[in-house]
This record gives sequence, C-alpha cells and structure tokens, in this order.
Amino acid sequence: MLADAAKLQPLVERHLTDVNHIDDAVTGFLVNTGKKLILVDTGTGGFWGGPALGKLVSNLRKAGYRPEQVDIVLLTHLHADHVGGIATPKGARTFSNAEIRMGKADSDFWLSLDVAKQAPKEAQEFFTLARNSAKPYLANKKWLPLTENEEIVEGVRARPIMGHTPGHMGYEFTSKGQTMLVWGDVVHAAIVQLERPDIGVIFDIDGPMAIKTREQLLAELAEKRTLIAGAHMPFPSLGWLRKDGSGYVWIPVPYKDSLQ
Ligand SMILES: [Zn+2]
Repeated sequence: MLADAAKLQPLVERHLTDVNHIDDAVTGFLVNTGKKLILVDTGTGGFWGGPALGKLVSNLRKAGYRPEQVDIVLLTHLHADHVGGIATPKGARTFSNAEIRMGKADSDFWLSLDVAKQAPKEAQEFFTLARNSAKPYLANKKWLPLTENEEIVEGVRARPIMGHTPGHMGYEFTSKGQTMLVWGDVVHAAIVQLERPDIGVIFDIDGPMAIKTREQLLAELAEKRTLIAGAHMPFPSLGWLRKDGSGYVWIPVPYKDSLQ
C-alpha cells in the first residue's frame, strides 16, 4: 500500500511484528450539533472488508440513533471505504432523509464515465462503486456537491485538503472556541506516516501534492493543538498531534463506552 519501499523498510522493521501487514481502522464520525445530525464518512457498507468492516449502521443503532435520523452525510472523498456505506448493495439509500455533500471535483471525477474509461483496470471498481452509491441520491436530488470552503451549517465548514483525490475535503466543526478537523485520508498508516510524513500511499492520486499537504497540515495541527478525527487513525480515531523531532506523535482521546 505504501509508495516508497526504501524509506519504509526501517520503519516497519522497528514498529511491526509482521512486516507485510499493517492493521488499519475505518471510522465514520457522527456529530450531533443540537440542530443537525451529521455523519462524516460511512465506511465500506456491505461492499468489502466484511466481517471486520461494514458495521457503521449497526453501531449507529447501538449508540441510539437510526440512519433515517441523519440530516447530512459529509463525504471526505468518494473512495469505497468512505462512500460505500451510503447505499445498500441493492441500491437503496441507507440514509433516507439525508443530503449527501462532497467536494465537487470528487463528484465530477468519480462519477464521470469518460474519466473511468481512461483509468486502469484495477481502478474500475472504485468508479463503479462511487456511481452506484450516488445513484439513489441523484435520483432524489439529495446529491449536492459543495463549493470550496462552504459553511454547511453554522459551525461546520468544508476545507479542501489536496492530493489524495481530486476533491478531497476536510470538515471543520467549531464550537465554543474549539475546532475539530475531520481530515479524511491525510494519514493511512499512522506508525509510518507520522514519523515520515513524506511517505505516501499508492492511492494518493497526486502523490507529491498529498505529501506537501500532509507536511503542512500536520505542522499546523500540532502547533494549534487541533482535535483531529481521522478515518484511518487507531480507534476511536480521535486525537491530537505533538511534534517529535522531524515527525509527530499521536495523542489519542481515550475511548469511553458511554452506551447504556
Ligand atoms: Zn480511506
């Protein structure tokens, strides 16, 4: 998965017992603003990764929410592990009352038959899944691409984070002077990329841009002590960054089970 084998080797040898295997989380984030119920990213749904993945809706129910209560789904990008959960394998809407919002450039790219035609064979399933996931929402006029830096509702703002996909988008939630950034796929393999932000993944469509973005963003977030929600950070996927030499250390928010 990681793009630069020579840089990678010393890191995996130091951190992993099995150098061919990195465990990763796939996490969505539900935010109740008091006025709106907002879900950021939706996991893989029933499409792949089972039985370890695809549990977002059942976990939502265990937390006391029903999918039809979700008002807005914000997608960081249209890769299958983020958009896959919005539709059922039969093509129905999982979130029947929600508007789906995403970067316009991602919508234009992943839903385009012309772009798909020029993409390599191994990328085709990404295009197909994005198109199929969008379909029932397009039919109901609930597929609504964002303008850059749009304020979606009060205190919730889109923030383009360039490199991973053409319209990759972060979302900032601000309340009482504090900000949480849901950063999408800035980091896929925390044990590698926090120490070496210059190591990318093959899924970054613009690799050099993704590296530049990661280097700048990590520095900013560590400096400001911004709370980060990262889909592929270790569960519960919430934490802060602290600068450590030329890299960073992840300070996780301790997981609390507050379910009744
Ligand atoms: Zn991802």
